[in-house]
Amino acid sequence: MDTGNKSHPTSVEVCCPLCGSNRSRQLFDTRDYAFHCSDERFTLQRCNDCGCGYLSPRPPEHEIYRYYPKEFYWSWEGVQQDLSWSEVIEKRRQQLDAKATWLADLPPGRLLDIGAQKGEFIWYMRSLGWDVEGVELDNDVPNPSDMPIRYGDFLDMVFEPASYDCITFWAVLEHVYKPAAFIRKAAFLLKPGGRLVALVTNLQSIQARWYHADDYPRHLTIFTAAALRKLCRREGLRLVQVRTDQKIFGGALNGGLLYAVKRLGGYSQDEAFSEWKQPHDPDLFWGCWRSRPSRFVRAVSRLDRAITWPIEKLLDYLGFGFIMTFVIEKPHE
Ligand SMILES: [Zn+2]
Repeated sequence: MDTGNKSHPTSVEVCCPLCGSNRSRQLFDTRDYAFHCSDERFTLQRCNDCGCGYLSPRPPEHEIYRYYPKEFYWSWEGVQQDLSWSEVIEKRRQQLDAKATWLADLPPGRLLDIGAQKGEFIWYMRSLGWDVEGVELDNDVPNPSDMPIRYGDFLDMVFEPASYDCITFWAVLEHVYKPAAFIRKAAFLLKPGGRLVALVTNLQSIQARWYHADDYPRHLTIFTAAALRKLCRREGLRLVQVRTDQKIFGGALNGGLLYAVKRLGGYSQDEAFSEWKQPHDPDLFWGCWRSRPSRFVRAVSRLDRAITWPIEKLLDYLGFGFIMTFVIEKPHE
């Protein structure tokens, strides 16, 4: 339905994307600090029934492409121009190793990676003996190593049911409009006993709640372990593991102390987030005070990194880290 809100005429309000409930409470307002695709404000709701977070109002599905600039697909590499394939792999090697550990106990079989981006992960898994395929929504994303990637909406595609040993979603489910349908379809395509591995962000983390660390409005659903457990119970799936750690997309707790110092020093929340979340010039946040290089800020940055590291480890140990990976198993009949 349309919000009817004049300042955001295109935004839409939605029900909980995991359980369908329309009972929610507002957590906070936010906007696109990373890529500044618009000045709209979006609201993060928390579902009263399953507890997940979701953006509502949000851009309508047919307009979300406006919020994915080309640089989004290179933002992890931290560059605004294309890299060679070997440079991409070298930059991502640690991340690819960390992803592969989630499949390390499986014999190589058929793997489908949803949200395959440039094909890094399936390229890597093929080198480990897997028979790989990928799906990517946006056919503007480059495919430099010519991997077998199908372009379009996963929900519209036809695959052979019960034919995959493993299906992966690396930082995908928080971006899609129907995450429950994605999980349901993936389960339908898995062989009995097959494994779904997904990495999402965790609403039960300091980063998500206090630092608005999610990438809005590209992140539409912010998960919790409890909401996933409910979803799996409803779908007849087994949630066999949920773990938070920062090995694949690291370190989002960094910056909290520096953020607090900047706020105390007169920055508004908007100003501090605008420096912190933009991907172009990290030094603006980590080394400058109001765009001027500052020794004081550098000293606080060093202290920040020193004290947040052990806190992050502890929170990960307790399951309250920002990046959360979960494993669902499709039961045998
Ligand atoms: Zn819900």
